[in-house]
Amino acid sequence: MIIKTECKDCGKTYHKNIDGAERSDRDSSRDSCYACALDSLTNGCCPEEGDFNSASIISGEMSDREQRELRRELEKVDWAACHADDEEDDY
Ligand SMILES: [Zn+2]
Repeated sequence: MIIKTECKDCGKTYHKNIDGAERSDRDSSRDSCYACALDSLTNGCCPEEGDFNSASIISGEMSDREQRELRRELEKVDWAACHADDEEDDY
């Protein structure tokens, strides 16, 4: 089942998939979109393998296919962001 909910972090309205294990946590009102969930897990830096799974479980936002696509994007963005920080030391 997909419900419409609002991310408590960024206010974005997104569709949350409440099927599966996450359902039992709904009352905790932990509605974070995938991006915010991932951000909180990684503190804004390079996500690791498990972080993508955790974020998708927390947010419930992504279908498997969407997850793979966003993940590819995030890897590019976060890689660039993290490496941009590294490069600042060289200048
Ligand atoms: Zn958000």
